[in-house]
Amino acid sequence: MYKRTTRKFSEARKITFEKNIMKNAYSSVAVSYGDTKVFCTASIDHKVPPFAEDMNSGWLTAEYNMLPASTDRRKPRNIIKPDGRNVEIQRLIGRALRAAVNLKRFPGITIMIDCDVIQADGGTRTASISGGFLALKLAVDRLLKEEIIKKNPIVHQIASISAGKVHGQIMVDLDFMEDKNAEVDFNVIMTDSGDYVEIQGTAEKGIMTRENFDIILKYCEQGINHIFKQMEEVYSEI
Ligand code: UDP
Repeated sequence: MYKRTTRKFSEARKITFEKNIMKNAYSSVAVSYGDTKVFCTASIDHKVPPFAEDMNSGWLTAEYNMLPASTDRRKPRNIIKPDGRNVEIQRLIGRALRAAVNLKRFPGITIMIDCDVIQADGGTRTASISGGFLALKLAVDRLLKEEIIKKNPIVHQIASISAGKVHGQIMVDLDFMEDKNAEVDFNVIMTDSGDYVEIQGTAEKGIMTRENFDIILKYCEQGINHIFKQMEEVYSEI
């Protein structure tokens, strides 16, 4: 049976947030899930795509990338050809963060969230969503303070964590080695009221039972509640 040496199957890695890490960003956050580390920034643009303009609404979009040296084997920069995985992940991040806001409350403004993976060890998309959300929250505070917007557009707090089945065992917040050996792989995004924003789950090498699924959801809910606590602590630091 597979054993974790430093944590229980229901236990996430050490999850930390640090804010204001970059001078030029409108807001910035460094998020770590164990050895996975992502820089998340928010930028503001005073224009929106035509469809948002037509609806007198704002827009929120995300980009995701991995630095070449973030992985054990150099990951080439995708300068010429777009990387399908990057595109899939950035759409997920954008969708999740849009679910957290009311776009009508920042008409004419685009909030761009950039997630750059500094070090990858599994769970880079879940870390990006949680870190991206904190960067979004900080950007919204600044927009309100600078009186660029009037009403807080954040309608849900969101955070994300992964879970999976490795050698028959359900566990939360998989690192790279666990992810590589996973039979089932899940990414779960939830709100602070315990509702779901998105669940992505695949039985990559086998199948999963209903019981497996229930345990995955239970572990993810616990993990996400823990993330909200960590996030809140850093958010309220002066
Ligand atoms: N990975 C890598 N190179 C790549 C893509 C992924 O080394 O080009 C590693 C990295 O550690 C990543 C892990 O594989 O965190 C799992 O990748 P996956 O696509 O499942 O996304 P993630 O778990 O990071 O959201």
